[in-house]
Amino acid sequence: MVYLDYNATAPLRPEALEATINALQDVGNASSMHLLGREAATRVDLARRQLSSLLNCSPGELIFTSGATEANNLALRAACGRRGTLVTTMVEHPAVLETARAVTANDPGSLVLLPVDGDGVVDLEPLLAAVRHRGVSLLSVMLANNETGVLTDLAPIIKVAREAGVLVHTDATQYVGRLPLDLSNMDVDLLSLSAHKFGGPQGIGALFIRRGTPLPHRPLLVGGGHERGWRAGTLNVAGIAGLGAAAEASRQHLEQEAERVTGLRDALEAGLTSRVPGCRINGARVPRLPGVTSVTFPGVPADAVLASMPHVAASDGSACSSGAPSPSHVLLAMGHSRDDADSTVRFSLGYGTTVGDIEVALDATVNAVSRVRSALTVTDGA
Ligand code: PMP
Repeated sequence: MVYLDYNATAPLRPEALEATINALQDVGNASSMHLLGREAATRVDLARRQLSSLLNCSPGELIFTSGATEANNLALRAACGRRGTLVTTMVEHPAVLETARAVTANDPGSLVLLPVDGDGVVDLEPLLAAVRHRGVSLLSVMLANNETGVLTDLAPIIKVAREAGVLVHTDATQYVGRLPLDLSNMDVDLLSLSAHKFGGPQGIGALFIRRGTPLPHRPLLVGGGHERGWRAGTLNVAGIAGLGAAAEASRQHLEQEAERVTGLRDALEAGLTSRVPGCRINGARVPRLPGVTSVTFPGVPADAVLASMPHVAASDGSACSSGAPSPSHVLLAMGHSRDDADSTVRFSLGYGTTVGDIEVALDATVNAVSRVRSALTVTDGA
């Protein structure tokens, strides 16, 4: 099996597996005062430091959550009181979009969804105009899109938000561990991430809350006051230890991996565009994540292509919305037709991807597209 679905979930890094297993073998609640409890707390402290080194923030600015979905919910629900406009984009992950809809349900007019251009880049003018408008409580813009890998240049956005006194949240789930991120230079207030996108276990993530951010204290879960009262519940020590080890491994290899994976992605794209007439790479003209390519094969349904190459694990649209019959909201926002959106395959590569994987996936895709095309021609002609 060739695994090219790192944006859905990345394979566990060996370091993360080891740290998780070690922690699972321990007994001890990280809140207990006895020796075993303190050992569990030590694992949590280490992981918090490892993650803070990856992000260049202070360990005390991190709240462990069950993943980015929870981190996004926590950020948006805390920042948006019952008043104030929430500004976000049409291409966010459902974990932001649906939360944004939920928090503004009583007054749908207080939700502004910003468009993107044909490359998937957020239009700066309407964004800046929306942020300067009075009464905005939060701006939430993703750092990297999960379907196309297209990156957002946050610097000019943050500058204007700062001037307007608007809090800024970014969903950095697909970015963390794949490209360098320095929170001492990137002045966002809130940032969400999920461990399983960078080689940690599933079901663990974090929300960064910059020290001093005037964020109303509105936790989703109340109880024993864990995580400075932001997220009650016994800490998932094994998950947190795995997250920390994955963060550390990602940090150590970040630049080499980004360069190597970009090379593999470019080779896949070059092979596809030269061997499959008419295919198009979405967002190819703008900065993207190293390992992501979103490829449209016009007239060739993506689900049929994927079914025709079962030994290649890729995705039609994002895994979170697959199963839902609607076409990708990201591709529609970029101006694709419904048919083109349904004819788009996402390949996402990562630290474990090899040259051999790309060769196999390339041949398999070229053959699958050609088989599906011939089958459609026969059906059309019949
Ligand atoms: N945001 C983005 C951009 C994502 O890609 C994902 C995962 N697909 C999430 C949020 C949600 O992450 P999780 O399912 O780990 O909570």
